[in-house]
Amino acid sequence: MRIRRLPAELINQIAAGEVVERPASVVKELLENSLDAGSARIELELEQGGIRLIRIRDDGCGIARDDLSAALASHSTSKIASFDDLVRVASLGFRGEALPSIASVSRLSLASRSRDAAGGWALEGDGRELPREPAPAAHPVGTTVEVRDLFYNIPARRKFLKSERTEFGHVLEVVHRIALSRFDVELRLVHNAKPVLRLPSAEARPAREARLAELLGAEFVAHSLFIDHEAAGLRLWGWVGLPTYNRAQADQQHFFVNARMVRDRLVSHAVRQAYQDVLFHGRHPAFVLYLELDPALVDANAHPAKHEVRFREARLVHDMLFRTLHEVLADARAGREAAPVAAAGDTPAALPPGPREQQRLPIGAAAPPFGAAVPQAVHERMAAYARLHGAGEVWAASAPPARGTPRAEAAAAETGMPPLGFALAQLAGIYILAENAHGLILVDMHAAHERLTYERLKVALERDGIRSQPLLVPVTLAVSASEAAAVEEGQEALAGLGLELAAIGPQRVIVRRVPALLAGGDIEALARAVLAELVEHGSSRGVIDALNELLATMACHGSVRAGRRLSLAEMNALLREMETTERSGQCNHGRPTWVQLTLLELDRLFLRGR
Ligand code: ADP
Ligand code: MG
Repeated sequence: MRIRRLPAELINQIAAGEVVERPASVVKELLENSLDAGSARIELELEQGGIRLIRIRDDGCGIARDDLSAALASHSTSKIASFDDLVRVASLGFRGEALPSIASVSRLSLASRSRDAAGGWALEGDGRELPREPAPAAHPVGTTVEVRDLFYNIPARRKFLKSERTEFGHVLEVVHRIALSRFDVELRLVHNAKPVLRLPSAEARPAREARLAELLGAEFVAHSLFIDHEAAGLRLWGWVGLPTYNRAQADQQHFFVNARMVRDRLVSHAVRQAYQDVLFHGRHPAFVLYLELDPALVDANAHPAKHEVRFREARLVHDMLFRTLHEVLADARAGREAAPVAAAGDTPAALPPGPREQQRLPIGAAAPPFGAAVPQAVHERMAAYARLHGAGEVWAASAPPARGTPRAEAAAAETGMPPLGFALAQLAGIYILAENAHGLILVDMHAAHERLTYERLKVALERDGIRSQPLLVPVTLAVSASEAAAVEEGQEALAGLGLELAAIGPQRVIVRRVPALLAGGDIEALARAVLAELVEHGSSRGVIDALNELLATMACHGSVRAGRRLSLAEMNALLREMETTERSGQCNHGRPTWVQLTLLELDRLFLRGR
């Protein structure tokens, strides 16, 4: 075959192979064009999931008569003119490929009127790019693009389209994402003549949260924290789902960089790391986050569909993301945020204690808040508890009980009561019941203690490694050959955890030293769990990842078991410690460790008006 230049129509169809996969990709390109045109209001109308018709109408800047033809020519764009522009591009599009590609695989028509034009003009596209004469058309300022019969001329691609419902599902996903990216733009979506979405523009936070609720569900809004942080020229804001509101799929993770939706590895890694301590394996957090930075610091030209970006200061961005989210999640701790099930309006901060609450203080609570008079007694009880249950330093380390964060103390001073209140009783050997200024607090004893143990192990590990202690009677256990091998290879990791294990046969392992913190626990169960994780993760994972997971395992085995009786003093000590420990609102598995039932909620249970 001779070498020849491809006809424009074919070039565009090849380009369409990259950009236009299904109706949803057309919708994405058209919506982005409307946003780039500065529209305040966009209407989308679809038939048959977009396969038969996609019509988009916007009130943006419009296209001048003499540019209509150019808009349909390949590599023609009004958005950049030089490589310099490309480096600091702030628009969503810039390749000038979308309209000609779409026109080459559908019946496309374009009608528009620019701001200063006396009337509108229209043009049909056919992918051939011959200069054509626009015809006059009645049109308000803005643009309408109509795309009919997608892939009508490429049966092979049309065959790969799925059912109308599936295709519409994909479209909806795109529309949702765009709607999340620009709260200031009003959006409407109609499918088969039925209105599907009506999203008014939303500036204030409540209006934005209403849009969020519409798109992600009210649950998400009720179980997320709003953040807005600025550091080193970066601004990160948005909604972070509480770890307790976790999902089986990563389907509620939205990240925008300068209002462009991205799926970026660096970003996901930073987010995953920030959540890793508070989420159970295999569960996914939910978030809607916006990163804003100088466009010159991001390269959007890294991917044809522009899903990925390249950060020029990748390390900085990663650190800022991780740090901010990590802190926010750590702050979602006892006494500082509403317990996960408390209704949004009932957060402790929103409910100043009335006289009635103060009357309800338990006897003895009138004494200065925990920390001054009581600690000696508590310390003794804790020490006794520790001796009894071998949880040793887990408790002793907190003596005298930590004084509390400034916020916790301020709250205590205001109400005369610490945020998590004072213990009343233990229920079923599982729950601690406590009374605070707002009503009843229920604590899952094991989950809470597990969290405290974990945090303490982590702090200890970071500070000076874990102190280990030899076992008076070493424990031997039968293991699999691969576990025995893992012991050989994992000596260093194990030593770092205060464990000394040795293989004493092809399928036998002896445990000689364990962390002092855990010496009183079930050594065999601990060793087995650690071995299982060592085998599963081997050396392929980051050491810290593995360590944290091992710590979580160890914490689980070193924590008070359900069914154990605690005295009031012990329960109070636990509550005080929860108040001062990072992330104690979540157990290591992402379940809540405590919940608040406000007096209001209790009254409602009894149909008692207040
Ligand atoms: P790109 O968006 O990469 O520039 P497109 O092929 O998507 O390329 O669009 C080509 C050009 O057509 C744009 O650069 C813009 O000037 C014009 N255009 C497309 N859609 C619109 C619209 N809705 N409003 C105003 N101008 C538009
Ligand atoms: Mg475009």
